[in-house]
Amino acid sequence: MKISKIFLYDEPAVQEIQIANLKNFLLKTFHVDVEIKGSIFNNLDVKYVEKISGCRIFEPKIPFKKHIPNKQEIDFEKSVCKDTKLMEKTTMVEDAKEIEDVVMYDGFELQNIIYDVITKNDSEPNNLHIVFTNRLICTYGATDSRYHGRTVICSNPAIVSTTGMIEAPARPREYYFEAMKYKMQGLDIQDIKKKYSEKFLDYHDNRLSKIAEGCLLQAIFYYMTGDAFCDSLDCRLNNAHWQKDLLYSQLKIGKLCNKHQALLDN
Ligand SMILES: [Zn+2]
Repeated sequence: MKISKIFLYDEPAVQEIQIANLKNFLLKTFHVDVEIKGSIFNNLDVKYVEKISGCRIFEPKIPFKKHIPNKQEIDFEKSVCKDTKLMEKTTMVEDAKEIEDVVMYDGFELQNIIYDVITKNDSEPNNLHIVFTNRLICTYGATDSRYHGRTVICSNPAIVSTTGMIEAPARPREYYFEAMKYKMQGLDIQDIKKKYSEKFLDYHDNRLSKIAEGCLLQAIFYYMTGDAFCDSLDCRLNNAHWQKDLLYSQLKIGKLCNKHQALLDN
């Protein structure tokens, strides 16, 4: 698909993505018009807020079933739509006692709702809309019959989850063992996080902006070519399953492989 303009929807609770820098990155890389918009979730109609609440996942091992939200859940959704900062605590996987306590959304269901919101005002099919959110977006994997956190949901609109960048690719195995030991001894897990800070992303990490660039490349390549990802670790289109690989492809390598660079040049 051809792109005439890209719209970037900010996540104001995560300043570290540095949306203005992302715009400049896109202008330099793709030579298309780019416009920054505010959060898509601010000032939403209450009917959309209710729909979003209805795509929460409560049982990670069961495929999506529409959820009928109760009043408390709708009120929660209204408050996090108004102030997305309130979202963060409820998406941190390691702080949750039970995985059911983590607020997760079905990525494709959420994408459908955002599609409705955007197409109400914009029917130009060559405009690509990319929405940043700190919501934890998940998709159900048929091979292992469970939901997994995702960094990017491709197509138009595309969704990029900052929480997904932090929670979806796995941390080093040694970290999980040490963190478990610390938790059992009642010690502060932040000390362990500090020890491993080079090895994985954390909330409010300054590296998030660079990682976001890679996510944008994936979303845009998918829109242009139908293919978002690259098998090579030496390419920013690599779909990392480990934090180590994510940091390697996006920060240490920080560019496309020869094949994808040639595709972009054409
Ligand atoms: Zn590549």
